[in-house]
Amino acid sequence: MTRQQENLFEQITARKKELAGKVLILCHHYQHEDVFQFADLTGDSLKLAREAAEAGEYPYIIFCGVHFMAESADILKADDQAVILPDLNAGCPMADMATVDQVAAAWQELADVCGAQRVVPVTYVNSSARIKAFVGNLGGSVCTSSNAERVLAWALARGEKVFFFPDEHLGRNSSKALGIADDEIVVWRRGEKLGGNSAAQLAGAKTILWNGYCHVHQEFLVRQIREWRKKAPDVRIIVHPESPWEVVRAADFYGSTERIIDAVRQSPPGSTWAIGTEVNLVNRLKKQHGDKHIDLLAPTPCTCATMSCITPVNLLWVLDNLAQGKVVNQIRVDAETAAGAKLALDRMLEI
Ligand code: SF4
Repeated sequence: MTRQQENLFEQITARKKELAGKVLILCHHYQHEDVFQFADLTGDSLKLAREAAEAGEYPYIIFCGVHFMAESADILKADDQAVILPDLNAGCPMADMATVDQVAAAWQELADVCGAQRVVPVTYVNSSARIKAFVGNLGGSVCTSSNAERVLAWALARGEKVFFFPDEHLGRNSSKALGIADDEIVVWRRGEKLGGNSAAQLAGAKTILWNGYCHVHQEFLVRQIREWRKKAPDVRIIVHPESPWEVVRAADFYGSTERIIDAVRQSPPGSTWAIGTEVNLVNRLKKQHGDKHIDLLAPTPCTCATMSCITPVNLLWVLDNLAQGKVVNQIRVDAETAAGAKLALDRMLEI
């Protein structure tokens, strides 16, 4: 650690102490250790948003994650709490692949062909508050990477088809897990008429998947799994369901970040793991489980570049401002959007 870093970390610690009882710092699992070390709560996006809402006594919630996560926290928080994102550039490229205008236009096209009452919209939690509101107002639900199959099954029991945004891979992996046939899963390609499908294809589909993706989890390949198995025959491969279907099929296990953490924690000492998810989480698991052999599945560092926008420097800047009574970079979801999004979030919790 350089002297400069040491200085920075000392200043953050001092500010945290000064603002004790007022500020709650939330860190997503993919956050770099330099920031993660200051977390009061850690977890995946929804767990953090819910826990922050339960910790209603803190007036300021600093969310060290990306934009849609801070929006979810703002929707679930108490009225007198403020949610802050230390860098407004910390967005999620996958969430940005489905704007509400694009989705509304696609929904209309689909409704003209199939009839809107036969389609149930489902959005992954990694989406904007406006998309969640769109889905909520149309009777649909949010899902997470750990309950996507359950939510999809619920949606299929309510309608004949599901329109799923924005992650094609999570949608396909969940559809396959429910036993939906390949010709009943179609991809809606953004910008193409009828998403690049014929009316007959859409009529025969059970799940229609928006073609968004996470660039981090797309970096994992079947070839890497083969190489690992050759190199370490006893390796256990676990990947996140934002990875392509071929990769999920070739792995030993798949699951959300929380499931990956549990699987590694519960494995016996000496286990060898190759993990297909963001590098900061893999590095942390490596450090926490010195009695196990843990590595990233891919040879290249798979980093969520936008999550990395949050640094100790902008965390300190936020804290310095709060110490002077100023709230900077507050994330606010307007009341109408928040109400619609909450419908979709509440529906998921009921499911
Ligand atoms: S890891 Fe992927 S899905 Fe998660 S925030 Fe980064 S880009 Fe978005």
